[in-house]
Amino acid sequence: MKFGFDIDDTLINLREYAFHYYQKQLEQHVDIAIFHALTRVEIHEAFGLTNEEGKNMWNRSLTFLYFTDCPVYPGALDLLRHLQSEGHEIYYITSRPSEYTEKTFSWMIQQGFPIVRENFFCGMKDSEKVDIINNLQLDYYFDDKPAVLNTLLGESVKVIVKDQSYNRNLNLPRVRHWSESSELINSRMR
Ligand SMILES: [Mg+2]
Repeated sequence: MKFGFDIDDTLINLREYAFHYYQKQLEQHVDIAIFHALTRVEIHEAFGLTNEEGKNMWNRSLTFLYFTDCPVYPGALDLLRHLQSEGHEIYYITSRPSEYTEKTFSWMIQQGFPIVRENFFCGMKDSEKVDIINNLQLDYYFDDKPAVLNTLLGESVKVIVKDQSYNRNLNLPRVRHWSESSELINSRMR
């Protein structure tokens, strides 16, 4: 079968990594509970930044956030390697800006993700993921972002949500911890 995965906040804990980075950069302590209660993908509100300031802060921070030590979610690598060992195909579909394509691919290799260049797609808009997913004829697709997930609801791909505070209103099969995901995937495969 063909399994597709978003990367940021699906396989790696990018927003929380950014949240800690912002605290250092802005010299501002913000309780982690505020992070866990955010109802949108963007994190800047927790620091009292306007949308404009938040966008600038995010863009200034991107290179650091993408290419240093952002943690992979526990259990994610084990699951991907397990799927690969069972002969499934694994695809990565990320809407990171296209200028980060090659560096992101290298970073994924360094972290130990089972990944090949032909199955790695980068630089599309959120709304364009659906076309790639349909063209690839994926059986399963995992993502965290409502703006993406909402485009997939009528499609044949089986969509699974990586649980985040901002996607709890979506009524779809949900993975909270990757270490517990095998059961969900097995039950959906039948
Ligand atoms: Mg994401």
